[in-house]
Amino acid sequence: MGIGVDKVTGRARIVIIGGSFGGLSAAFALRRKLGPERAEITLLSREENFTFVPSLTWVAVGSRRLSQISFGLSAPLAGKQVAFVNDAVIAIDTEKKTVTTANREFSYDFLIIATGHRSANEAVEGLGPFTGPGHSPMSAPEAEELATAIQVLLRNPAPVVVGAAPGASCIGPAYELAFGIDYLLRKKKLRHLVPISFVTPEPYLGHMGMGGAGKIRQLLEGALEERDIAYRTSAAIKAITPDAINIEGETPIGSQLSIIIPPLAGVDVVAKTPQLSNPKGFIVVDEHFRHKVAEGVYAIGVAVALPPAESTPVPVNFPKTGHMTEQMATIAAQDLIGEILGSKRGPSAELSARCVLDMGDRGIYLSADPVRPPRNRIPTVSEGRQWLLVKRAFERTYLWNAAHGRKMPTTFGW
Ligand SMILES: Cc1cc2nc3c(=O)[nH]c(=O)nc-3n(C[C@H](O)[C@H](O)[C@H](O)COP(=O)(O)OP(=O)(O)OC[C@H]3O[C@@H](n4cnc5c(N)ncnc54)[C@H](O)[C@@H]3O)c2cc1C
Repeated sequence: MGIGVDKVTGRARIVIIGGSFGGLSAAFALRRKLGPERAEITLLSREENFTFVPSLTWVAVGSRRLSQISFGLSAPLAGKQVAFVNDAVIAIDTEKKTVTTANREFSYDFLIIATGHRSANEAVEGLGPFTGPGHSPMSAPEAEELATAIQVLLRNPAPVVVGAAPGASCIGPAYELAFGIDYLLRKKKLRHLVPISFVTPEPYLGHMGMGGAGKIRQLLEGALEERDIAYRTSAAIKAITPDAINIEGETPIGSQLSIIIPPLAGVDVVAKTPQLSNPKGFIVVDEHFRHKVAEGVYAIGVAVALPPAESTPVPVNFPKTGHMTEQMATIAAQDLIGEILGSKRGPSAELSARCVLDMGDRGIYLSADPVRPPRNRIPTVSEGRQWLLVKRAFERTYLWNAAHGRKMPTTFGW
């Protein structure tokens, strides 16, 4: 009998918190190797649905409805004999090995935390949308709010600023939204009425918190310049007001629609659990994504603490993409399976990044291996319409497979 197996039932009790890329992939990967006789798996999520988060930018620019990029979690999980509890976890006790919702307490032998982020909107005055005049695509409700704001812009053309606040780590969607709004306005022959600026804490375009990659910097500079999108780098946004963006040491930029990616923090329940996370609420793990102190606890995805790639004049944090989240889920699941079956630990690996940046009518494919420089391979950076088609096909395939309990594609087209 392996470690962490319940003495009475002979089964390991695995609890997963979060039903997005990390949580769902981990649940499927565990079940592929651990039948119900080996492991009782429970997934708790405060959302009833899985949402394909990368497509929230498409919800914002009106090319997707939320219903097209989400599905109910209960059916695919039931098909895998994973108990689904649609409830928010309000307490984690790593000594007693329990997690608690408003309705119930769950005991675990192993816990996988895949709770993603909290937008730290308090970091900059005016970050929004529900706390200030700024807009953001970081969650489904925020993306829908942004979609409405973009419709208002189309009726009343006015200056737009897109960008990221100091300390942001998820900068790709800011580029996608700048390109997406530019493309939308050009299609409607309104672009000449709307000055667009891109404002980023990155020391140069395409840094993305990972020290850049190959020719992405040159490509993005050219792409913004040919689209008349003005840009400022190493910009520390201080405040967002209803009609301007204030940047430290610089003249404010007039803006009626300010879309600013916030810095992220860990969710409250993780941040408040003693000795679970760092001061930002992110969880420090080993190379198998296992907590260094709390027994039986793993963390994957955006919930994990990853140090910045380098020090920059304005802070930029390390990215945690969907593709990286899937790799973390696989490594953690393999390690946990080895632990339960009493076999050797699963492999660990340096995370790599592959993603496609949507530019409205074309895409940029970027591959960096490993994500953190220096790298073994010269990064691949390629621009073309085909990449956008790949991104769209990936979204459809991922959603179909996930909704039907099939193995999701993991590498190509994020
Ligand atoms: C707008 C946008 C565009 C992006 N585009 C790309 C892209 O093109 N390519 C790419 O690779 N990555 C992209 N990313 C990043 C990618 O979406 C994330 O890496 C991925 O969503 C992380 O998955 P996760 O499972 O760690 O967390 P999340 O997706 O954040 O999910 C966390 C889950 O945990 C649940 N949860 C949180 N707290 C609790 C609680 N207390 N109790 C119960 N449940 C809880 C939440 O409800 C949520 O379902 C994008 C992100 C954003 C915001």
